[in-house]
Amino acid sequence: MDVKSPYLHPEYETLSREEISKLQTERLRETFEHCKNVPFYAQKFKEMNLSVEDINSPEDVRKLPFTTKQDLRDTYPFGLAAVPLEKCVRLHSSSGTTGNPTVILHTQRDLDEWANQVARNLWMVGLRPSDVFQNSSGYGMFTGGLGFQYGAERLGMLTVPAAAGNSLRQIKFMKDFGTTAVHAVPSYLTRLYEVMQEQGVDPRKDTKLRVFAIGAEPHSEEQRKRIEDMFGVKAYNSFGMSEMCGPGVGFECQEQNGLHFWEDYYIVEIVDPDTLEPVPDGEIGELVLTSLRREAMPLIRYRTRDLTRVLGRTCPCGRNHVRLDRMKGRSDDMMVLRGVNIFPIQIEKILMQFSELASNYLITLTTDNDNDNMTVEVELAEMMDDYARLQSLTKAVTRALKDEILLTPIVKLVSKGSLPVSEGKAVRVVDKRKVYQ
Ligand code: ADP
Ligand code: ZN
Repeated sequence: MDVKSPYLHPEYETLSREEISKLQTERLRETFEHCKNVPFYAQKFKEMNLSVEDINSPEDVRKLPFTTKQDLRDTYPFGLAAVPLEKCVRLHSSSGTTGNPTVILHTQRDLDEWANQVARNLWMVGLRPSDVFQNSSGYGMFTGGLGFQYGAERLGMLTVPAAAGNSLRQIKFMKDFGTTAVHAVPSYLTRLYEVMQEQGVDPRKDTKLRVFAIGAEPHSEEQRKRIEDMFGVKAYNSFGMSEMCGPGVGFECQEQNGLHFWEDYYIVEIVDPDTLEPVPDGEIGELVLTSLRREAMPLIRYRTRDLTRVLGRTCPCGRNHVRLDRMKGRSDDMMVLRGVNIFPIQIEKILMQFSELASNYLITLTTDNDNDNMTVEVELAEMMDDYARLQSLTKAVTRALKDEILLTPIVKLVSKGSLPVSEGKAVRVVDKRKVYQ
């Protein structure tokens, strides 16, 4: 391992667009053939009269059928396996944020490649075997635990599998073990910082922290900046999903100009969620991923429901793997209030602009006297006794939110620590509206 190189896998990371295209065509053909082992796909290929000869470029993926989360549920648990179960060594089940769990199988080769993917990302942001990596995310079925664990070990760092929660213990580990890098969900890190403050711990002076990998949930650029300022670290956006392996699918490089999605492992499409036609670069649409190297459960044109856009296909870092914008949210995170479409991240972006506000917030939707309303509760960074100040701050936040979402929410400033914090992905929206049939 060349510890000085900015690349862990230069032969893949620095491919030209042309080479990426060639490799993807080859791997898409292999994936097509491999998928014939899955009755679900074999049947579809037959119905659509498809053969491997139809695949001569990565764009030919558009000839292939889509796969949805519902397909995974309908074939639960092992219906989409492309290899016999005895070849599989692990399964992960998605956390079921949006419904029934689904199962993803892995062979030993899948796990090896997944570890390589995660290691590549961690290397890309400057981590080296001399770093100490604390993984403060849930373990078990959630892929953020074992995914980062194996990836960090693959890179050769000393790993601290701290898991989620227990902030006092997290802080002690950071201090005692000289932790330099942490992986966690962003909503948890802002809470951790508050605990550090309560304990009189200054992360800049009392720890060696320098790099964070933050992901698994949507977060705004403002939230990232906040985390960087709080801890004095660089925080890199990490995108993953169980269906594609877990973390490691997309990651920001040191330029922090979008997520590089690894095109030696996936074909990335952005489609209009209604027409399913590709949208031009720069336009927001649904992310659709085709896995190119998965052995146990390859997925073709998987509709992620995540909304994003292409930012570019080159980068000053020397990697030409497509750069995607941070996720706006999932199509099912979208709130429709009085006919207006709103994403939680839009609210977050505004709240984070007020230094008087802390990072934890909760959006509640209710029906009052037949009107749908939105209440935004947000914690204050400091206690505020001055009623006039509180009132004018509430007004200013309400106005800023109205400018963004075009509706006037009810804003409630609450004291620090009074809103719930989840150990895993943050729950930002509670919908208590009456549903009229
Ligand atoms: P579940 O689908 O049950 O939440 P996963 O852990 O597989 O289980 O979650 C994958 C999803 O998490 C993605 O589809 C996306 O919605 C979200 N996600 C993961 N990483 C990020 C990120 N960096 N930014 C925004 N959303 C993310
Ligand atoms: Zn880059």
